[in-house]
Amino acid sequence: MKLILLGPPGAGKGTQAQRLRDRYGIAQISTGDMLRAEVAAGSPIGKEAKAVMESGQLVSDDIIIRMLGSRIEQPDCAKGFVLDGFPRTVPQAAALDKLLAGKDMRLDAVIELRVDDAALVDRIAGRFTCANCGTGYHDMFKPPKRPGICDVCGRNEFTRRADDNRETVTARLAAYHSQTEPILPHYAALGNLRQVDGMADIDEVTRQIFAVLDKLA
Ligand code: AMP
Repeated sequence: MKLILLGPPGAGKGTQAQRLRDRYGIAQISTGDMLRAEVAAGSPIGKEAKAVMESGQLVSDDIIIRMLGSRIEQPDCAKGFVLDGFPRTVPQAAALDKLLAGKDMRLDAVIELRVDDAALVDRIAGRFTCANCGTGYHDMFKPPKRPGICDVCGRNEFTRRADDNRETVTARLAAYHSQTEPILPHYAALGNLRQVDGMADIDEVTRQIFAVLDKLA
């Protein structure tokens, strides 16, 4: 199964991508997570990307396309992958087409999570992640069952992203509308774009995504 999850920051791509990974046994590929790992490691890519990410702009296509190209060569992609946060520009979408064509692969579906801009700022400003297992939480919408303890692994350390604040969200939303939305017509023309209501609660969104994919089978 080869999927793209598209949607603005805060639409729930990461949460839904984890569920798709678990359901199909495929790799979850988040270019944002890969970049954050580069920043944490202080690598040359990380050094170049850090300020761009903190300003809410997009990292250069060259870097991202190279990163993604080597990532999908990894053995955990043998059964497929769900791309979360890639492609984000028309050149990235074109590069992905080329990459897949070269491997005689095709996408099964491109799922767009549709969410109103007004809801996104609140969603993003409250989110945090378990530092140990990566499970995502939200102050208001999805707090851990026991305060301060991860539901999944029981650890008590959490992290918040440097770019998850009200100021940066505006720039990230603007980048989505001006640079990422223009790729939607491309996938619509290919006939594999499916839209899901990302305003519904998390489990309902998952149900809708699974229903869309079951129909493809
Ligand atoms: P995300 O975790 O997907 O919200 O990404 C966080 C930040 O990483 C974005 O705001 C961008 O600065 C950068 N980034 C992630 N994926 C891409 C991409 N495909 N193209 C360009 N920049 C990206």
